[in-house]
Amino acid sequence: MPTRRTTRGADRTRLSGDWDVLICGASFAGLAVARELAGSGARVLVIDRYEVGERQTSACGIPTEWLRVMGLMTSHRQTFGRLVVHTPFGTSVLELPWTFSTFDYATLCQALAAQSDHDFETAKVNGRSGNTVHTDRGDLSAPLIVDALGWRRVLGSGYQPPDAPLSRGLEVHPWGAGDEMELWIDRKYVPAGYGWSFPADDEVRVGVGSFDPRFHVKDTTVMLAEELSREPVRYQGNWIPHRLRAATDDGVFFVGDSAGHCLPLTAEGIRTALYFGIACGRELRAVLDGDQPIAAALASYDDFSESHRWKFEAMLAAQRLVPRVPPRLLHHSISAMQWKRFVSWSFGHYLDIAPPSYAGTPRSAVVADELDVVAVGV
Ligand SMILES: Cc1cc2nc3c(=O)[nH]c(=O)nc-3n(C[C@H](O)[C@H](O)[C@H](O)COP(=O)(O)OP(=O)(O)OC[C@H]3O[C@@H](n4cnc5c(N)ncnc54)[C@H](O)[C@@H]3O)c2cc1C
Repeated sequence: MPTRRTTRGADRTRLSGDWDVLICGASFAGLAVARELAGSGARVLVIDRYEVGERQTSACGIPTEWLRVMGLMTSHRQTFGRLVVHTPFGTSVLELPWTFSTFDYATLCQALAAQSDHDFETAKVNGRSGNTVHTDRGDLSAPLIVDALGWRRVLGSGYQPPDAPLSRGLEVHPWGAGDEMELWIDRKYVPAGYGWSFPADDEVRVGVGSFDPRFHVKDTTVMLAEELSREPVRYQGNWIPHRLRAATDDGVFFVGDSAGHCLPLTAEGIRTALYFGIACGRELRAVLDGDQPIAAALASYDDFSESHRWKFEAMLAAQRLVPRVPPRLLHHSISAMQWKRFVSWSFGHYLDIAPPSYAGTPRSAVVADELDVVAVGV
């Protein structure tokens, strides 16, 4: 078991106090919320059980444009212009209309955290009563509370695998290099789901994800890695929610996996965590700036998340359909998808579910630019 960086022993002092905003979870979703609050003058506290960037939660693949618009290219590892899909009946190559990149988790989280001016503490969140969050270091209160704690949704009603709508994913991170971003849709690895290999400069992330939470993916993750002559070492895995949940509940904002914001068919949840994190952050920012009451922010953020429900439900329907399609027919369907105009159309729509253009410029950066202009003008 690796030792994770967190405060221990005498450093784990008692925590207490009141904050304007309390963000629980310092990964993609929580840090995206915090970024929108930079320069607001509000007292914002982010807490996580580990130091920022300490525990990688994914294969870290994302549309490259999201890295660029968020100013996170320092974390970039490798870019792919095409997707190679293997089935038992052959291989198809989809030339993508936009590129996908892998990145380094720790570098990205630290770069994202550096774009905001929140305080940070390591603490394990145990639950909540009203506006007070209970942690293993003490109680913290705020009128604005965000749960960006991942699939457990600790501040709301929990989810219990294997009965909840959760997928499971496991991967290994052997050292090595590769040129292609590859997927395997092959029932020998997983009856419902897919395997992947995402090279990331000096390591390759090889894994298997199952939409059926009862299917254990460890043996087939090892099998896929060994078939690719990769060492099955440095494991990381987690549950992945594949159904949208209420984005607000009892006065709390839920963002990222805690709201089921991961896309059901592909299990892509990083850009959606950033996207909905930005949306949530903008609502909180309007409250802090005195432009709207908390109730309006809750309603508006909830509406925004719900407006995406039909897309999530359509992808969930596809997730359920794919394992039922006879493998040969599935291969022919994927092969037909290689048609360039179809790939451009379908991947264009897919990107539009959470488009990078939404990121825009955080209010803090706009204000800083305006101040520069004023200073120059003087
Ligand atoms: C094997 C695997 C591979 C994946 N690959 C990709 C991929 O390549 N691309 C992609 O887009 N998506 C991928 N995903 C999905 C993606 O990882 C998630 O959708 C994404 O991480 C969600 O971000 P988040 O910020 O909501 O939650 P998380 O990234 O899970 O972050 C939750 C944070 O909360 C903290 N936390 C949790 N509980 C507590 C607690 N009780 N107290 C204090 N802190 C707590 C954690 O330490 C963590 O920092 C993958 C998932 C898996 C399992």
